[in-house]
Amino acid sequence: MPSWSKGRVVLLGDAGYAVSLLAGIGASLGIAGAYLLADQLTRARSIDDALVTYERLWRPVVEEKQRTGRGTARWFLPASRLQLRLRRAMLRLARLPVIGRYVATTLTGKSTSLIEKLRRTGDSPRLTSTDPSRKGDS
Ligand SMILES: Cc1cc2nc3c(=O)[nH]c(=O)nc-3n(C[C@H](O)[C@H](O)[C@H](O)COP(=O)(O)OP(=O)(O)OC[C@H]3O[C@@H](n4cnc5c(N)ncnc54)[C@H](O)[C@@H]3O)c2cc1C
Repeated sequence: MPSWSKGRVVLLGDAGYAVSLLAGIGASLGIAGAYLLADQLTRARSIDDALVTYERLWRPVVEEKQRTGRGTARWFLPASRLQLRLRRAMLRLARLPVIGRYVATTLTGKSTSLIEKLRRTGDSPRLTSTDPSRKGDS
């Protein structure tokens, strides 16, 4: 979708950026996107500015999760016996802490500094378009 908003209409959640259901993160992205949009609406000088900044901050995060979701689909539906065996072996190894973390990151994608900020709601994050922590959010 080239743009998530037109005039004063804006898309959120699955309507704007559905991920594969195998990604297991669509509801979280919808809620976090709504939080970010509300944050921008309280800070920006105009609704237009808020919508532009919301999309500029959130689109790279969503696109990374969409890419990960497509990869996860291949994991869930192995195309050959070899891939099936590899998956079984990987799931057994996932009980080990370090490998478990690797498997979790592979399936859900890496966390970004923007998501970390959203998680720490108690910190009252300043999510402005000039936020330097956005550099890692791609
Ligand atoms: C099988 C499956 C498993 C999933 N597992 C997970 C998971 O483990 N974790 C996770 O985070 N996400 C999961 N998801 C994804 C998650 O359910 C969605 O990403 C999330 O529900 C999207 O929320 P939303 O509010 O954007 O849209 P929706 O939940 O689709 O809400 C849209 C609402 O709008 C209503 N509506 C539609 N048209 C109109 C209209 N014209 N007028 C009024 N109301 C209307 C609909 O009835 C609906 O209630 C899964 C999805 C599926 C299908």
